[in-house]
Amino acid sequence: MIETIKGVISGEVSSDEETLDKYSRDASLFEVRPEAVAFPKDTEDLKKLVSFVAAGRKKGGKMSLTARAGGSDMSGGPLSESIVVDFKHFNRIKKVTGDYAIAEPGVFYRDFEKETLKQNRILPTYPASRELCALGGMIANNAAGEKTLKYGKTINYVEELKAVLSDGKEYVIRPLTKKELEEKIKEKSFEGRLYRDVYRLIEKNYDLVKKARPNVSKNSAGYNLWDVWNPDASVGGKGDKGIFDLTKLFVGSQGTLGFITEAKIGLVEKQKYSGLLVIFMKDLEVLPDVVKKTLALKPASFESFDDHTFGLALKFFTGFLKFLGAANIFSLAIQFLPEFLHVVLHGMPKMILLAEFEEKSQEEVDRKIRELDGVLEPYNLSTKIARTVESSKKYWVMRRESFNLLRHRIKGMKTAPFVDDIIVRPEHYPEFLPKLYDILNSYNLLFTVAGHIGDGNFHIIPLMKLENEEERKKIPAASEEVYNLVLKYGGSITAEHNDGLIRSPYLEKMYGKKVCKLFEETKKIFDPLNIFNPGKKVNSDLEFALEHIKR
Ligand SMILES: Cc1cc2nc3c(=O)[nH]c(=O)nc-3n(C[C@H](O)[C@H](O)[C@H](O)COP(=O)(O)OP(=O)(O)OC[C@H]3O[C@@H](n4cnc5c(N)ncnc54)[C@H](O)[C@@H]3O)c2cc1C
Repeated sequence: MIETIKGVISGEVSSDEETLDKYSRDASLFEVRPEAVAFPKDTEDLKKLVSFVAAGRKKGGKMSLTARAGGSDMSGGPLSESIVVDFKHFNRIKKVTGDYAIAEPGVFYRDFEKETLKQNRILPTYPASRELCALGGMIANNAAGEKTLKYGKTINYVEELKAVLSDGKEYVIRPLTKKELEEKIKEKSFEGRLYRDVYRLIEKNYDLVKKARPNVSKNSAGYNLWDVWNPDASVGGKGDKGIFDLTKLFVGSQGTLGFITEAKIGLVEKQKYSGLLVIFMKDLEVLPDVVKKTLALKPASFESFDDHTFGLALKFFTGFLKFLGAANIFSLAIQFLPEFLHVVLHGMPKMILLAEFEEKSQEEVDRKIRELDGVLEPYNLSTKIARTVESSKKYWVMRRESFNLLRHRIKGMKTAPFVDDIIVRPEHYPEFLPKLYDILNSYNLLFTVAGHIGDGNFHIIPLMKLENEEERKKIPAASEEVYNLVLKYGGSITAEHNDGLIRSPYLEKMYGKKVCKLFEETKKIFDPLNIFNPGKKVNSDLEFALEHIKR
């Protein structure tokens, strides 16, 4: 097979042990060995690959194509037993203006931001993995991050996409007016049929589709069908009503509908003035009140990490050396001295909250921080003001890098993200959180919890000995219980990390049979031969996933 594919594309194709080893893993708890890894040079290569695999599948072949950008997915999204398609050659940033950028999916976020910052702009949905991920993965997962509370998710910034679809051709995907949709539907092409079938599917099941939208601020579970057809919207609020936007379906679809080859992405101005109030929570009883009062002041970010994360960060603080730009280990130790002292004087806090304000002037930032500090005074909490970027940096690094640190530092234990991205509305905290902790403790799990407290999105990362079968058995059992609880409170099983191998099997539990049937039909419309990333979103297999947990 490898030799044949080598003849099909001009980019490299590898199947040596080292390459297959590397592409067997992402940041999830799985290991799935591909048959080969292809590195297409350009869109022509992608088209040829898709046509080649389509022809094979028509004859009963089993080959499939799974895209990979940065490979930092936590759900097993870019893993496959067949061909992994690495987008490293799609690394051009074609244009950056004050409003938007046009870039290819293999561009790493860290490089993208360097360019957008030249115009004092950012894509404000960067995830905590900002140093590891690329645009293709951010779009395909509908990623979100610390600024999502104020700015929303990646889906809000994707204005237009180019994608190679299952017929082996490249298309532009953008919002269409009703008139444009009517014209498109009349076309007898693959594209015409695709628009017609998706439109009919949504129109026919309109109430079911609209009702399926989870009632939380962020969601990456399933296909985002509910945002595609908006009969009441119009361009700029003017003219004929009706907007049909397939970018809303493509974003978050985890590479199961086609290959993204280019994206036009909206940008926002980088705010000059910001400051942080760090809140150390001794116990969680007053957490719901603290969250409510903080949200009322409209912070740009409101993040959290727990005592386990903080403890591990202090224990392995040397791991932050490269992120904090400390000259040496002693200057780094000095940076962390106040935190060590805090623990000695006040004990280990149960949770640390980071409330960041971005305003038009430093005075306004300071006023907001002081106001919040004052509002929280009755709760007798210990707080710390970090007014400058420099003084807040170490808290952000602890928040962003804790999972990464865990992945590399804990000997004999592996990070096991399986209930890593749950979300419920913050008003449910008083009832929801104690029940959540009860479930996790009942499995005797060592775990860290960090997340977006303002959105109700928690990243729970257990540390486990995955080679032990008894430990592995806890994974489906605890998932079942945690997801039952999340769904009882109207939440979503994944706010931003997406479904992949780990969560696709639970989509029916979340959405029910009828909605999952619509997901299956959606996949069939785009990809009738099941070329793109099979087993994710639809036709998933929990047994397969559990068999592929890394040992
Ligand atoms: C330490 C750490 C912290 C994280 N924090 C966050 C966080 O705060 N928020 C968050 O949302 N996520 C987070 N993640 C998960 C992950 O990093 C993000 O979802 C990220 O956006 C994935 O990007 P990637 O380039 O690594 O994608 P990959 O892992 O390469 O792929 C992700 C998915 O996108 C698909 N894909 C990639 N390229 C294309 C393409 N060209 N066309 C179609 N499909 C494509 C893949 O098939 C796969 O299903 C974190 C991960 C780590 C390791």
